[in-house]
Amino acid sequence: MQRRILRQIARYALAAVVIACAVGVTVLVPPFRETPTIFFFFGVLVTAWYGGRGPAMLAVVLSIAAINYFFIEPLYTFNFGVADLARAVGFVLVSAMVIWFAEMRRRTESTLREQAARLKEQAQVLNLSHVLISTIDGRITSWNEGAIRIYGWRKEEAEGRNSHELLKTEFPRALKQIQTELAKTGRWEGELARTRKNGTHVFVHTQWVLHRDHQSNELCILEINNDVTRQKQLEESFRIAEQRFSRFMRHLPGLAWIKDLDGRYVYVNAAAEKAFGKSRSELYGRTDDEIFPPETAIAFRENDRKAIAGESGIQTIEFLRHPDGDIRHSLVNKFPIVGADGAISLVGGMAIDITERIRAEEALRDAGRRKDEFLAILAHELRNPLAPIRTGIQVLRMPLIPDAEREQVHEMLERQMQHLVRLIDDLLDIARIREGKIHLRKERVSLDVVVQDAIDACRPHLQAGKQEFHWTLPDEQIWLHADGTRISQILLNLLNNAVKFTDPGGRITLNAKLEGDKLLAIRVKDNGIGIPREMLPRIFERFAQVDADDRRSRGGLGIGLNLARMLVEMHGGTIEAHSDGPGQGSEFLVRLPVAEVISKPAPAPGPMPLSATANGHAKRRILVVDDKKDIADSLGMMLSLLGHTVKTANDGPSAFDAACEFEPDVALLDIGMPGMSGLDLARKIREQPRLRQIVLVALTGWGDEADRQRSHEAGFDHHLVKPIRVAVLEELLASIKR
Ligand code: ADP
Repeated sequence: MQRRILRQIARYALAAVVIACAVGVTVLVPPFRETPTIFFFFGVLVTAWYGGRGPAMLAVVLSIAAINYFFIEPLYTFNFGVADLARAVGFVLVSAMVIWFAEMRRRTESTLREQAARLKEQAQVLNLSHVLISTIDGRITSWNEGAIRIYGWRKEEAEGRNSHELLKTEFPRALKQIQTELAKTGRWEGELARTRKNGTHVFVHTQWVLHRDHQSNELCILEINNDVTRQKQLEESFRIAEQRFSRFMRHLPGLAWIKDLDGRYVYVNAAAEKAFGKSRSELYGRTDDEIFPPETAIAFRENDRKAIAGESGIQTIEFLRHPDGDIRHSLVNKFPIVGADGAISLVGGMAIDITERIRAEEALRDAGRRKDEFLAILAHELRNPLAPIRTGIQVLRMPLIPDAEREQVHEMLERQMQHLVRLIDDLLDIARIREGKIHLRKERVSLDVVVQDAIDACRPHLQAGKQEFHWTLPDEQIWLHADGTRISQILLNLLNNAVKFTDPGGRITLNAKLEGDKLLAIRVKDNGIGIPREMLPRIFERFAQVDADDRRSRGGLGIGLNLARMLVEMHGGTIEAHSDGPGQGSEFLVRLPVAEVISKPAPAPGPMPLSATANGHAKRRILVVDDKKDIADSLGMMLSLLGHTVKTANDGPSAFDAACEFEPDVALLDIGMPGMSGLDLARKIREQPRLRQIVLVALTGWGDEADRQRSHEAGFDHHLVKPIRVAVLEELLASIKR
């Protein structure tokens, strides 16, 4: 208060002092006495400038008085005549102008000062901001603490410098444009990149406010800047993290999603979009209830609830019908996601499709079960013929058995043996075909021959089965380009099945017919137990058997039809099964391509004579060689019984000696012998000119194309696969032309 009064007194005292000075100067400098008002106007101006309006008016009054007293005649008196008054009025008017001018300047300056002070105060309040005030052209006039802290330049280093140069400001657009906007709206806001005193970069968010005076003259620019470097870095690292996350998720083979606590989707990856059959925009903000069928949504929601209940979430299996209708199973991990405040805010989920695994496991279990079943059946099937064989052997050991019974036992042994051989052959064939090891030996074969072979081989079964059997062939002579043995094998399988699944007294037919001139259709039909319809599509699968006790008791491994189909297909043909159901009989239809059709006189079809045919083949000198003495002896014995002259040997060298000495017509040589193998022995025999006429027959367990080729190259004439059927051997011996 006191200071204010003192300041007022000082201001008025200033008026007195200034006018006193004006009087002094005018008195002391004689030329000024002529125009004394000049110094007084100056005095009024100085007083108005520094003291304000009141003291200036005092200065005007004092000036008029002083001029009148000191410089107007009569001097040193106060005369106020008309002229004096007019002069005084003139002085007052001019002084009023001077005072008004000084007053205006003073006010402008004080406004500026006040604004600057206010801005400074605001800057202190905005302690996060740093403020600089600059002139319109960028010269810094005020530099606060925040600015020092951020940019590193001290107040005295910064003030007076151009802010854009000092801070190497990089603008988001041309400075001119910014200035235009600022001039237009009085404000501008944006982000600037600047350089600190130490050379490091800083990003600021800036707000520029243009300050004008009362006449709207642009005075200065207030810049309020916030350091957003950290925020920028965070944004950048967040952007990178976000990019990484979405790339990772895009390549994730499994499904991934995030829902909020209301069950609304907030994130799904590409795999989830595909599996759900909906795009992100369709999923985001929607719940399972709005997307999936009710039972699916309920299950998903329940699992979400459990996931939130436990800290570490849950692992479970969920299934979903995909847009293509396929029901897929997934191993799903659901887990709570905790927000910044430590509370659960979201539920995450990840799913891996395990449908194939589940299916594979089921298939594996199925295959395992079928394998166990198969092994049980196989054991059973192998044991079946062994029992009668054992009994037969015991019977043969007994002394004084009548010839008729001995013959009967032999026939029974032969039958059982054939059954065992067929079983093992079929098994091996299936394995070989699957491994691609069987190659057909295709040649021109007559249908008559292959059918006849199959019927001959089935003959013992047909006799034992006591069914009625008929067959018919086309009138023409049909030639196939096929492996005759394999075609017979196919038909034999079908005939054996017909016998097996038809009760005694039933009827079996084999009927071959041309379909056009390119296809042959062979039908094997019976009126036996038939096949359930649902089983028909599966009947040709490996190990497929109709699951019924009455069938099981008839024996079989469930491989015959599988083998038949593979062989038919290898010949470019097809096979089908037909049946009207259980008890309705069955029909199997094989279609094969025909190579040639030649007209021939009609054959006499009819019931097959089932009696054995007699033979009257020439008797031969035969050398039998096998390192297993039992085999050599039994074969030798059988050939002797057939009327041939036989010698046996059990190794290569003694066999060679026997050959030289005995000079057989035919030599049956085992291939796999220790020391000199059958192949070596054959070569050695072939080297002897006088032994060259011997017909060499290989006896081996191996019947592949490569084995046959090897024996042929060693000099063998024939290749028979063990165990050898007597009929085949007899046929071979009969076919030898000597
Ligand atoms: P299996 O050794 O069991 O006879 P197949 O592959 O030859 O094996 O036959 C498979 C199944 O098909 C048989 O177990 C049987 O149930 C059925 N089947 C085959 N042929 C006939 C037929 N002629 N009559 C009735 N069922 C048959």
